[in-house]
Amino acid sequence: MLEVIQIPVLSDNYVYLVHDPDSRHTAVVDPAVTAPVLDELARREWVLTYVLNTHHHWDHVGANLELKEATGCTVVGFRGDAARIPGIDRMVGEGDWLELGSCQASVLEVPGHTRGHIAYWFQEADALFCGDTLFALGCGRLFEGTADQMWNSLCKLRDLPDSTRVCCAHEYTLGNARFAMTIEPDYPPLLERAKQVERLRAAGRPTVPSLLAEEKRTNPFLRADDPQLQSRLGMGGLPAVEVFAELRRRKDHFRG
Ligand code: ZN
Ligand code: FE
Repeated sequence: MLEVIQIPVLSDNYVYLVHDPDSRHTAVVDPAVTAPVLDELARREWVLTYVLNTHHHWDHVGANLELKEATGCTVVGFRGDAARIPGIDRMVGEGDWLELGSCQASVLEVPGHTRGHIAYWFQEADALFCGDTLFALGCGRLFEGTADQMWNSLCKLRDLPDSTRVCCAHEYTLGNARFAMTIEPDYPPLLERAKQVERLRAAGRPTVPSLLAEEKRTNPFLRADDPQLQSRLGMGGLPAVEVFAELRRRKDHFRG
């Protein structure tokens, strides 16, 4: 079974190592910085096989070239964004498979945050690496894509199994919880989760990864088609994408 190691770096980024014990192949997802990744690899005596990039932002590809230089690993990224992924060796897109030893990841195109954002889904390991598309109780900002694209991308991720671990790239959950509470302050599952998030963060502990089942139940950005949330916004019966766009706008202006 795959091992997933979470490495907190910078102020709020998470970098992940994915390791197959049988083949000893190892991938790093969205390496922002080099040293913490090399340290963790050395400590575990793991050799890097792949860099997997979800999108081109510097806090996701910052260590690509140094890691490639240091380990000779293969850099994987979206083929439509090849010009913006430093050191890219292998170009992938929707439906492509990637082998890590005997385990496989499928590639999902999830544009919205950027126009070339992808996610890696390791089905057998129940692990989704979704970069800055889906966050715990939140979603990425629309830097390059439209609300329509992002809503479709989130719906694609929402279709994955409940047991999926959402390994996103930032610890933004506390701010996201406070925003979600402005939308549905008396929705019991959200209330409970928000309290738990406050407790975890107060103790300096990560809230990521979360379970996709929990995101489906409490993440407002996955519930733009939920009649209860819609009526909370006074948008009952409107197209989900309009409700999503309104949520995203409000979050953009939210100062928690
Ligand atoms: Zn980003
Ligand atoms: Fe980021």
